[in-house]
Amino acid sequence: MKVREKLPKRRENPTKVPKKGKWSQHKPDLREDFHCHCGYCGSYDGYRHTWYEVDHFIPKSLFEPLGQISTEEYSNLVYSCKFCNNNKLSKWPSGDVNIPNYKNEGFIDPCNSDYDNHLYRMNNGSIMWKTELGKWMWNTAFKFDERNYAIKLLWEVNQLRKLIFAYSEQLSKMDEQSNDYRALEEKAKDLSFKYVLIHKDLMDYYNSL
Ligand SMILES: [Zn+2]
Repeated sequence: MKVREKLPKRRENPTKVPKKGKWSQHKPDLREDFHCHCGYCGSYDGYRHTWYEVDHFIPKSLFEPLGQISTEEYSNLVYSCKFCNNNKLSKWPSGDVNIPNYKNEGFIDPCNSDYDNHLYRMNNGSIMWKTELGKWMWNTAFKFDERNYAIKLLWEVNQLRKLIFAYSEQLSKMDEQSNDYRALEEKAKDLSFKYVLIHKDLMDYYNSL
């Protein structure tokens, strides 16, 4: 499976033209362009404790002194969960704004489909690497190795959420007296039960941090 179900795509013309230092004004556009998921770990942004930030793909600390890129430049921004953003920080092994990765260390822009050639999602929802560069992103840049328990729970709870909503939509169009309705309702109830338990594991995990 892919880490992000849908490849994020930055728009050509962002809605806002922020003043210097106000790059976070791009957040609503980024949220939409990244389909409400973190560009790096693919986690859905709908859960408590996983607040989302605007990351500079090429780190600000690298380009700011030389002024090569504007801090508000949309093409350099990533919708990122705080865990990915906090682990990535100002890492940029090549030290050159034009070289995102070098000798299996560094990054792939999350809007580039090549990202999926280096990392993938296992059937249980956790993230694994495919290449040496993927491994560097996995354990050095984003610490997916240490975060995989939460990443897996977030993925599971979001899969259940989507299924429950799909079932509820289907139910709303069905005859409440029919056997099919009752069968589907049972299924939806089972899923909701699982959802609550996994969500509890997730909250216990966050509260233990
Ligand atoms: Zn993330």
